[in-house]
Amino acid sequence: GTQKGDTVKGINALKKYLHTLGYLSNHNHNHAADGDYFDENLESAVKTYQRNFNLNPTGHMDLKTVSMMGKPRCGVPDVINRTTRMQGGPAHYHTHYVFYPGRPKWPATKQIISYAFLPGTRTDVQEPVRQAFLTWSKYTPFSYEFVQDYDAADIKISFQRGDHGDGYPFGGPGPYNLLAHSFSPTDGRAHYDGDENWTVVAVPGAVDMQTVALHELGHVLGLAHSPVQAAIMYPLAGPRV
Ligand SMILES: [Zn+2]
Ligand SMILES: [Zn+2]
Repeated sequence: GTQKGDTVKGINALKKYLHTLGYLSNHNHNHAADGDYFDENLESAVKTYQRNFNLNPTGHMDLKTVSMMGKPRCGVPDVINRTTRMQGGPAHYHTHYVFYPGRPKWPATKQIISYAFLPGTRTDVQEPVRQAFLTWSKYTPFSYEFVQDYDAADIKISFQRGDHGDGYPFGGPGPYNLLAHSFSPTDGRAHYDGDENWTVVAVPGAVDMQTVALHELGHVLGLAHSPVQAAIMYPLAGPRV
């Protein structure tokens, strides 16, 4: 595989991907000339990525690493505030739930959290999103209420395309595929890539709305990524829950 010292077309895209996910802090998009050079920082970022995904930390783009990066996933960074491991504590700790640094959360006094869809959003996603909220209502002290008023809602759900102004552009299907991203409390924004092939019933090759919504709402409610493959907060899109 590609490794340190190599200059290969496509390395710049790899750098952008690892930068978006928090692994590469000093990626300079303006230096396109050496963008395709595999430097020491990139090697270190690849190693951290490999450790988070239980791969051999070789620092090269070996087959398993390329394959893992080829899978559609959430675009929320795995590395936040230079905390490189997707772990909340020691091995016996319940790593299904990992909080953001500083544990931002919705005020407990709120009881009801409202959510709305950007006007014009396809209506067939309302039911899978409602189901995802029902699941979270079992594990959180809140109830979730659908409202029409998008501007007034606590949680704002929308489909966005490409560069949509928050610094986390979407790219549609393809390599380094990021499906969605959401912001930690009490921001409330949940963005889904409008160029993906979303489905509301389980269809091979399509992205299941309810599965991804369940995961994204975890971020909206204050959960970060978990290294546990079976966890809802594992960054890769899992099977339908
Ligand atoms: Zn995520
Ligand atoms: Zn966004």
